[in-house]
Amino acid sequence: MRVLAMAAMAAVCVAACAAAPKPSAEQVRAAGGVPIAPGIALFRGDFVPGRQPDGNSIVLQAPDGLIVFDTGRHREHTQRLLDHARASGEGIAAIINSHWHLDHSSGNRMLRRAYPDVEVLASDAVNGALTGFLADSRRQAQAMIDRGAIAEPQLSDVRGDMETIAEHDSLIPTRVVEHGEEREIAGRRMRIGFSANAATAGDVWLFDPATKVLLAGDLVTLPAPFLDTACPAGWRDALAALDAIDFKILVPGHGAPMDRAGFGQYRVAFDHLLACANGNDEAALCIDGWLRDAGTLVPASQQEQARRLLDYYVVQVLRAPPERRGRYCKAAA
Ligand SMILES: [Zn+2]
Repeated sequence: MRVLAMAAMAAVCVAACAAAPKPSAEQVRAAGGVPIAPGIALFRGDFVPGRQPDGNSIVLQAPDGLIVFDTGRHREHTQRLLDHARASGEGIAAIINSHWHLDHSSGNRMLRRAYPDVEVLASDAVNGALTGFLADSRRQAQAMIDRGAIAEPQLSDVRGDMETIAEHDSLIPTRVVEHGEEREIAGRRMRIGFSANAATAGDVWLFDPATKVLLAGDLVTLPAPFLDTACPAGWRDALAALDAIDFKILVPGHGAPMDRAGFGQYRVAFDHLLACANGNDEAALCIDGWLRDAGTLVPASQQEQARRLLDYYVVQVLRAPPERRGRYCKAAA
């Protein structure tokens, strides 16, 4: 009798437990996330003026554990991902880094410490960054600290980044992504994408066919494209590749999720920005054009920040001398 009751209970659990997403929507919210599709939670990255940003992180349930797409920069951000994993009762089975920028990958350290066997998928562009951009940044940051030129709260951010660069093992993937393909990640069938020479030398994105959710990383960033290590023309081509995917929701590297129409608007704004920067109009007109084209994708509260970013990018990146402008447009290997 007792055995029968237990068997009956197990049967109830098979039906009910399979239907209930783990963790529940309430648990996702309690950890600071937002459910965006069944089994997919978004942890928005903060971008407070005067501080370094966190990129968005997305956690997907999979048969073999959780998949974390981008791990954030600040401890508090990454801690939310760990809290979410604990609430779900599932371990983190895989990390995917959309690219090596530290607002998307610094959290690897905390997550790999908590889950030493985690699989880490990323492009190998981080190797070039560690001897190039990140090494230079670290040197410049140290010189500024020595001169007393950085004050809090930026100082803590800069010190955190320097620590991440010094202990860079956590940024190195266990599995290098060098082309797009359909594959199982933690037992979930997904399409992983690769774009060379776009926002970085190697950007990785993820499409979940079951929910039609596309995780774009920094190929889509708001309130403006972050062009520090970009090949603008390659980035434009990468956006065309994303447009060919049958997605319903696109989660950008920074900013709120958008539908197809929102992405279409982003593409137009991006193309116009590049065209304007290639022409002779004043930079301010190109920036006005970006804000007009992007419309509601850039909320009123972020317009000033968008202007500040683009003031720098149009003049210092898009209109830099050709050899500087093209330095992240290496021929694809
Ligand atoms: Zn970013």
